[in-house]
Amino acid sequence: IKILAIESSCDETAAAVVENGRSVKSNIISSQIELHKLYGGVVPEIASRKHIEKINYVIREALNEAGETLDSIDAVAVTYGPGLVGALLVGVAEAKAIAFAKNKPLVGVHHIEGHICANYIEHHELEPPFLCLVVSGGHTHLVDVKDYGVYEIIGRTRDDAAGEAFDKVARSIGLGYPGGPKIEALAREGNKEAIKFPRAKVDDAPNDFSFSGLKSSVLNYLNKCEMKGEEVNRADVAASFQEAVVDVLSTHGVEAAKNLGYRKLAIAGGVASNGAFREKIQTRCREAGIAFYHPSPILCTDNAAMIGAAGYYEYMNGARSGWDLNAVPGLKIGQR
Ligand code: ATP
Ligand code: MG
Ligand code: FE
Repeated sequence: IKILAIESSCDETAAAVVENGRSVKSNIISSQIELHKLYGGVVPEIASRKHIEKINYVIREALNEAGETLDSIDAVAVTYGPGLVGALLVGVAEAKAIAFAKNKPLVGVHHIEGHICANYIEHHELEPPFLCLVVSGGHTHLVDVKDYGVYEIIGRTRDDAAGEAFDKVARSIGLGYPGGPKIEALAREGNKEAIKFPRAKVDDAPNDFSFSGLKSSVLNYLNKCEMKGEEVNRADVAASFQEAVVDVLSTHGVEAAKNLGYRKLAIAGGVASNGAFREKIQTRCREAGIAFYHPSPILCTDNAAMIGAAGYYEYMNGARSGWDLNAVPGLKIGQR
């Protein structure tokens, strides 16, 4: 089964052709980062307009590279939530038009379920059940992947998402958007032991996360330096902040897997491309005797190959969307 997958939930316009959920024939991503950088974050109206300009181009590229046509694919999968409504609508309308014109099945896909399924692409041996720590720009979830297409959230952030914390702290030390990769690069030049930032726990909820205290702690540190007239070592701030996030994510993720008796732990989402995070959680998993899985960096951040992977399992489960498929900005995991 060959699926044409489309993703436009935020600021990447992407299309891919994926065969049987695990084999990527093409994966085209047109990022709008350079455009949104000017504003320090994603501007929804600009994102929607840019998707309109790029969507036909990325689909044509994806088909060409895969050696396929709109006639030779078996189904069309598209992200329909969560995300920016105007951005989502571009992909959804495009997917409906193609599926209708070519008489192909249409499958709506949940963006975060897509992030999780990115793990199937490079780990052909990975099968549910497993635990997945989703760490993206808008979500920090511990997800029990019970079966293909069957998900249960067992832990979540109470405030900021991990990626959001990276972006906000990056802004506060004068690094641009998106913050994650910039913090990671600057952190390499800093000392991660230099500043003691807090590792937050949520009382009576060991699977939940909280990052707003850490963010405030970084801001307080910067203010204190300013009041004392001290020069801030930004590399030390970046390294110490990153270490705090990575430590909390790794500790909680592995503890949850141990407590629930999982032998497999996967990570997903943009923050999962962070090298320091991957190294630490991998080490903790090894110590605990838990198999560890992660997608390549290009499959961690937004892409359509992951939507093709998730779409395939939805398709095999019999899921079909109607011509009334709509964008659902606040779509919940497991919701249909
Ligand atoms: P969501 O998937 O929750 O809807 P999103 O699609 O905007 O949100 P992703 O594309 O999964 O998020 O990831 C983007 C986030 O990942 C941003 O917050 C970014 O700062 C963060 N990120 C990307 N690369 C890195 C990195 N190397 N280190 C840390 N964070 C990173
Ligand atoms: Mg993005
Ligand atoms: Fe995402």
